[in-house]
Amino acid sequence: MGLTAESVGKSACGGNFVLDIKDGEKVVALAGNPNVGKSTVFNALTGMKQHTGNWTGKTVQNAQGHCTSGENNYLMVDIPGTYSLLAHSAEEEVARDLICFGGTDAVIVVCDASCLERNLNLVLQTIEITEHTLVCVNLLDEAKKKKISVDLEKLSEKLGVPVCGTSARSGAGISEMMEMLPQAFSLQKRNAPPVIYPEKIENALRIVEPVLEKKPGGKLSSRWTALRLLDRDEKLNASISGYVGFDIETDEEISHAVSEAKKYLAENDISETGFKDIIVTSIVCQAERIAAECVEFEKPDYYERDRKIDRILTHRIWGVPIMAAMLLLIFWITIEGANYPSELLFGALFSLGGKLSGMLSACGAPEWLNSMLIDGVYRVLAWVTAVMLPPMAIFFPLFTLLEDVGYLPRVAFDLDRYFKSSNACGKQALTMMMGFGCNAAGVTGCRIIDSPRERLIAILTNSFVPCNGRFPTLIAVITMFLTAGTAGFGQSFLSVLILTGVIILGVILTFIMSKLLSSTVLKGVPSSFALELPPYRMPQIGKVIVRSIFDRTIFVLGRAASVAAPAGLLIWLLGNIRIADGSLLAVCAEFLDPFARFIGLDGVILLAFILGFPANEIVVPIMLMMYLSTGKIVEYEDLDSLKSILIDNGWNITTAVCMMIFMLCHFPCSTTCMTIKKETGSIKWTLTAFLLPTVTGVILCALTANIMRIFTA
Ligand code: GDP
Repeated sequence: MGLTAESVGKSACGGNFVLDIKDGEKVVALAGNPNVGKSTVFNALTGMKQHTGNWTGKTVQNAQGHCTSGENNYLMVDIPGTYSLLAHSAEEEVARDLICFGGTDAVIVVCDASCLERNLNLVLQTIEITEHTLVCVNLLDEAKKKKISVDLEKLSEKLGVPVCGTSARSGAGISEMMEMLPQAFSLQKRNAPPVIYPEKIENALRIVEPVLEKKPGGKLSSRWTALRLLDRDEKLNASISGYVGFDIETDEEISHAVSEAKKYLAENDISETGFKDIIVTSIVCQAERIAAECVEFEKPDYYERDRKIDRILTHRIWGVPIMAAMLLLIFWITIEGANYPSELLFGALFSLGGKLSGMLSACGAPEWLNSMLIDGVYRVLAWVTAVMLPPMAIFFPLFTLLEDVGYLPRVAFDLDRYFKSSNACGKQALTMMMGFGCNAAGVTGCRIIDSPRERLIAILTNSFVPCNGRFPTLIAVITMFLTAGTAGFGQSFLSVLILTGVIILGVILTFIMSKLLSSTVLKGVPSSFALELPPYRMPQIGKVIVRSIFDRTIFVLGRAASVAAPAGLLIWLLGNIRIADGSLLAVCAEFLDPFARFIGLDGVILLAFILGFPANEIVVPIMLMMYLSTGKIVEYEDLDSLKSILIDNGWNITTAVCMMIFMLCHFPCSTTCMTIKKETGSIKWTLTAFLLPTVTGVILCALTANIMRIFTA
């Protein structure tokens, strides 16, 4: 078939989505319920790496990519998962608007073969909007294991659109799907609509539909538009008006027909809410009927195994301790596994640094240039690589495995009541976990929360979970200062306990801050939502490792390095520009010193945090450069020598504890701040997101430092 991948199009974000259509390309949207394999299909077609994972709501943005099948070129658009196109959550609006007004030529609705009935709701609603629909029944391999069979031909006959079967994870059926796709463009008008409503609704539609048929409507179905007009959705009506090019609500003929139809409905005791209910119920019943005819279950209790596991993992009492134990285990593997490669990397990179410096001198490079490149740029890069790479290369695959198995929504379930009691939304647990990878991703992920109030709470508190730029530093500080007295297993176990404690502190602070926000500036009651527990799936171990190392680890490292190298250079310059009796950096650090010492840090650490605003990864290297440029040029080829540099500069256990607290609670990095501004559209909330963790950090550090000083005096 020859599917080929091309470059990604323009950036995508929510409603302002710009399609990057190349000449002769047809635009195809990939719609579907959450977690049915849309992104897997999209990736298989475009060769892209859109995030996939076994939980509902991970795709919150449209993504686009190009592919070719046979003679045809396509622009494929992966849209957020949605159960319906009738309600008004952010994802549903994005999906509906793209299908209705986004200029798509066809829609592929991806379905889960093992719960087809629920998926058919969306299929029917999509066909109501556009006849140019192809249904892709995915996850056939899983359905087969559960002894569920789907009669694809019959399904196609019942729906009146082409239907294909796939197992996207292995790529089975994808090329056949693309061969079938042109059928969706050339569909003839069907004899009967996909859903037939009760007689009275049909009569009302008969009043409005003919009037709409006479009007220019682009690709919008007049039946669907009539339904929406009778449904009175002002926001949607405005979008329809914009799309068709005239005001659909004030058009005389249309508004006359609509009021006639409404009068008819009222006379027949169908209220506005009654109308909505009848529409929804009719679609659900039609989906049920079709599924009953096309799906066969040999073993109706196929979810029994999942339910048994869930009884343990989401147990009221045991759920949270199991989650904490799981976190502990992941951290232990990370710390234990990262130690040795970290040391090796330190050794290798720093001896290479020495050689590079020697080579530069041999080439006649002046001392200042040598120092700038090696002490300034190279050492910072070497630090970032040696400290960050090993833990990330272990933590990310482990975390992705949990995600692939389907554990993350169970964590959200376990934490739901705690979020509820903070008047926030349980889905915040998922966005919090995304924050572990990157707070900016966590903030964008908050789009899965429907209520604007709860979304804002989740955004403002996201940086209380340490991202990957922060927790390698936490690990390093713990290992150097808090567990150095113990050895072997005892040391790593203690380190893990402390690290888990720090993360739990972050989670507790998230609850406290959510409660604080929801009882002050963001007052309201928690909304209820249906959290879907997806089936447990065997993770694709090889793929997960490759994907998390290449997609996440290398990406994050690349980003850190690209910030670290110029930052290293800049800091070196600042450290070497002398004003009065010290370097510019030293003067700034000295200025900050009294306040910094009050909160258990020192001027250099605080300045490193401020200069590390572009990326948390570079806070420690900056700090080291400042310490080292004070005269004591010491090699720091491993954590022990690093520790001695820190101790020489006045660090003690109080400094280490306060450093950890401040690492956990301080302003989000610049990328996260920009994302917050983009997501909230408000400087005020961006500033709040900046100040909330910073003020918390300052208060906690001041309390800790002063209490610890009493005990260590
Ligand atoms: P989306 O939310 O609809 O975009 O779903 P994803 O593409 O992220 O897939 C959800 C989960 O289902 C992931 O863990 C995928 O690896 C898995 N998955 C997707 N397609 C298949 C399939 O055909 N068979 C199996 N067994 N798993 C699949």
